[in-house]
Amino acid sequence: MSRFIQIVEVGPRDGLQNETLSLPVADRLALIRRLEAAGARRIETVSFVNPNRVPQMAGAEEIMAALEPDLDHSRIGLVLNLRGWERCVAAGCDEANVVVCATDGFGLANQGATAAQQVDTLAAIVERQAVEGGPPITMTLSVAFGCPFDGEVSEDQVVAIVREAAALGVPEIAIADTIGVADPWTVRQRIEAVRAAAPDARLRMHFHDTRNTGLANAFASVEAGIDVLDASVGGLGGCPFAPNATGNIGTEDLVYMLERAGFDTGYDLAALIEIGRDISEKLGKAPASSLARAGGFPA
Ligand code: ZN
Repeated sequence: MSRFIQIVEVGPRDGLQNETLSLPVADRLALIRRLEAAGARRIETVSFVNPNRVPQMAGAEEIMAALEPDLDHSRIGLVLNLRGWERCVAAGCDEANVVVCATDGFGLANQGATAAQQVDTLAAIVERQAVEGGPPITMTLSVAFGCPFDGEVSEDQVVAIVREAAALGVPEIAIADTIGVADPWTVRQRIEAVRAAAPDARLRMHFHDTRNTGLANAFASVEAGIDVLDASVGGLGGCPFAPNATGNIGTEDLVYMLERAGFDTGYDLAALIEIGRDISEKLGKAPASSLARAGGFPA
């Protein structure tokens, strides 16, 4: 028995976006290519944000133009608004991941829009895609377990937005613990509530390891039947609201845990460990993932 768990690599986007050092386009391209060679089939490559606001993500169009279209790999662009959607379509992304914040506090600080306004934006993007075409749309619901501005985020808040996304026919919905405050028991409950609200959508989970609960939350998700998880090579990234915090759960740590238990992920663990070490060195820091430090087992 081998169950396949899909890991979406988010290091080149969520990881690098939250690093203080900005890497040039050439280095980011090299990272994307190595990750794809190591088994990443779906990968967040770019973000269509204003480069003046997020200099780490400048050059999205250049990166997409340099990547040869390839049926085996899906390059995902992060989209916050209609302008971002237009750029994402023009750049030739294979998927658009539209972010909606669960709270007004985070939405206003991050995207200058309330949660309800962001749902309206999602609806407008879905409508545009229906008329003009474009890549498949997924939604990531950020700060779905807690918000640095508004505090606790209730299950009802999350479910209400998920219901709207489901009504729009969004085929994949990610529930994100953007600031790393979730615990595995809450994760399980929230998955059950979200699944009931969006029975036809595929659910994906996105965890930051800010408070060392990331892998436990991933475990709880898999136990609850989730088969798509986000992770970031080397545990790249951080948390914009917790200085010195670690980033997303490390792809190599997640691959190790799952494959040790007999799951299939399609990744080459040894290659991932190398990539995690190299990119951390490039960023001038020690790798955040445990596997980058300890290596796999058996050797
Ligand atoms: Zn994130």
